[in-house]
Amino acid sequence: MLLKNCKALLPEGLMDCSILLSDGKITDISVTPSRMDAVGEQVFDVAGKLVLPGAIDPHVHVREPGATQKEDWRTASMAAAHGGVTTMLDMPNNSPPTATVSALREKLKLAHDKSIINYGAHIALMPGAEIAQGAQVACSGKLYLASTTGNLLVDKDAIQKQLMTEARRAGLLVCVHAEDESMNTPAQEPMAHAAGRPAASELSGVRRAVAMAKSCKAQLHCCHLTTAGSVSLVAAAGEMGAVTCEATPHHLHLDLSDLERLGPYGKMNPPLRSKQEREGLLGSLGKVTCIATDHAPHMHDEKQSDGAPSGVPGLDHYFPAVLALMHRDVISLDDVWRLTSAGAALRWGFFDKGVLAVGADADIAVLEPKQETDLGELYTKCGWTPMVGKQLHGRVAVTIAGGTVAYDGEPDTRCRGRQVLREGAGEEND
Ligand SMILES: [Zn+2]
Repeated sequence: MLLKNCKALLPEGLMDCSILLSDGKITDISVTPSRMDAVGEQVFDVAGKLVLPGAIDPHVHVREPGATQKEDWRTASMAAAHGGVTTMLDMPNNSPPTATVSALREKLKLAHDKSIINYGAHIALMPGAEIAQGAQVACSGKLYLASTTGNLLVDKDAIQKQLMTEARRAGLLVCVHAEDESMNTPAQEPMAHAAGRPAASELSGVRRAVAMAKSCKAQLHCCHLTTAGSVSLVAAAGEMGAVTCEATPHHLHLDLSDLERLGPYGKMNPPLRSKQEREGLLGSLGKVTCIATDHAPHMHDEKQSDGAPSGVPGLDHYFPAVLALMHRDVISLDDVWRLTSAGAALRWGFFDKGVLAVGADADIAVLEPKQETDLGELYTKCGWTPMVGKQLHGRVAVTIAGGTVAYDGEPDTRCRGRQVLREGAGEEND
């Protein structure tokens, strides 16, 4: 396959070039288009579009197995391809939790059969989890320091520490949901729910997680941070060791003023913050490793019920949400690269991903940054987005996963993604 007339973000900068793909890899990049025009491959003329590495989303709740009424591997991967995401890592809060080798294998088999983009899975770090063996197939582990959907809360310090130590021995990155359970006040109504999980709780959760990771010598990644303070703490800790963090499109685009309008459709954990805190997070993106959706679909009737569950979808408009930040000069094009693919690729050890270079995996997003975003176009099974009424920017023209077209105006369900494994999977680290 040949992509010609590319305006592509290569490591050396934004270049006019042609990109040749074969056997799932980038096999040639030429700034002299005529050199490759004669090859006679399947040709995409992408003149006027922006070509970036496909996004890596390390935080997705695919919901299969266990809750396929909300989403499944087919629909989640279609939404991902629509958003320019070429690799997604699935969270383990399924029913039953993904904590054993057999549960991991069952999930990865479903993904193999149904996902149109590349996929991997987190293992639940909970008592009884098969961490050492699970590390052969899982990309990382997830530790819940606060209650949320699927309740995998581990609230005893000694157990948290033991799980982090086991993960470190298995060479697994520890991803944490960092809030301080003791500072949260449970509430159902969305505004009360948000008030009951204050920013101070997140900051305390991050402080405890960082301290624990230091003492266990574990590699730590803090999920979905919402304030400048939390991000600064991670950045300071990261300079002394390996601590990183992510931010979500919804915490970057929505705040409490939107929650009034969205009601239960804006209910999530951690909750939406004030406008001031959201602006602080936007100003901290230089210290954030990646933008992860925390795609967490729920059905309309669940969201409209008493005690609506927390969580919002985000895969469908991944790149439009990020491009909107570039359009507003909040971030640069280089930031877009780091936040959408390069940061996660390095953090998770996917060293053939997150870069447009000869020999890298052919995971590519072709973007139209100037086009209007169609917020009504959705492939997630839940059929709604919390971004309704917001100004996102651009659209995805083509998504290529592993050298195969996964989206070209619509998802191609004949495409099959590949399982991703981190570099050094299965190696002990003691
Ligand atoms: Zn999540």
